[in-house]
Amino acid sequence: MSEEYKVIIIGGGPAGLAAGLYTSRARLKSLLLERGMVGGIIVNSELVENYPGFPEGIPGAELGQLFYQQAAKFGLETIIAGATAIELKGDQKVVTTSEGKFSARAVIIATGSERRKLGVPGEQEFTGKGVSYCATCDAAFFEGVPVAVVGGGDTAITEALHLTKFASKVTLIHRRDQLRASRIMQEKAFAEPKMQFLWNTVIDEITGKDLVEKLKLRNIKTGEQSMLEIAGVFVSVGLKPNTEFLSGFLSLDEAGHIITNERMETRIPGVFAAGDVRHDSARQIITAAGDGVTAAIYAEKYISGT
Ligand code: NAP
Repeated sequence: MSEEYKVIIIGGGPAGLAAGLYTSRARLKSLLLERGMVGGIIVNSELVENYPGFPEGIPGAELGQLFYQQAAKFGLETIIAGATAIELKGDQKVVTTSEGKFSARAVIIATGSERRKLGVPGEQEFTGKGVSYCATCDAAFFEGVPVAVVGGGDTAITEALHLTKFASKVTLIHRRDQLRASRIMQEKAFAEPKMQFLWNTVIDEITGKDLVEKLKLRNIKTGEQSMLEIAGVFVSVGLKPNTEFLSGFLSLDEAGHIITNERMETRIPGVFAAGDVRHDSARQIITAAGDGVTAAIYAEKYISGT
């Protein structure tokens, strides 16, 4: 087993990086494990307009980098490795990863969430061939052609608005007749001439030959079926917590989120959770960062026994 740390933070999004900033400044030898790119899911946001301190907004990738640089400056070590299990050995928490085992007195789980799949025929087959989960990454492939976005939350509206800069038309398909997104995002969407809305509508199948060509739609109020010709469909139907590796170790809620108290403590002493992965999280960058800081402060108290 490699070097012992005081704190291991799993996940390099706003929650994990804020936790790492505080544990490092508390002079606790801290290791951050990130399986992909530091910054978290916000690296896919073209512009973050609601993080205080940036009145003009800031690209998500840039904000993620700033979080990372600030934590690294105070000594946070980072390893690119995916955690696959946590076990207890006395008062040590041992984290198994793709790069070996690491141990620490405290662990902060900040693994966030990933995009939920729609689960309809054609979705998997056409992923990367017209089905996408990231407009910031893929919008430019759809210059001058019609696309659809499925979902009614903030992510769906953000993605749809970004797509209007490229696509000839953006059809938002939502299963209800009211958006879940925040009012300001709704106002922007309704004011955008390139957007049209299909209410009370679900996708039954995504079809095509080599690439996506059509969506088989159904109005859930009338049962009426229809086909929509599009070149791409962006799926934005919410988030799924990244907690599969914790099964059997921690109790999770029905949706797979980790249950904590207001100190971000789980039921295992020395194991904390922060950010989107937590039950009842407000799922905002600022609240994730706040959770991370709270977890770091109580991890320090746990380690020092105060
Ligand atoms: P979300 O708020 O959970 O919205 C998911 C949307 O997908 C809902 O409209 C939901 O419909 C729909 N949906 C879920 N399952 C579906 C299915 N099987 N078929 C069709 N539609 C389905 O998720 P999100 O938009 O990814 O946002 C997640 C969190 O991040 C939220 O708290 C959000 O506020 C936050 N966020 C904030 C910003 C921002 O502030 N700019 C940007 C992105 C995300 P129903 O409405 O009928 O449930």
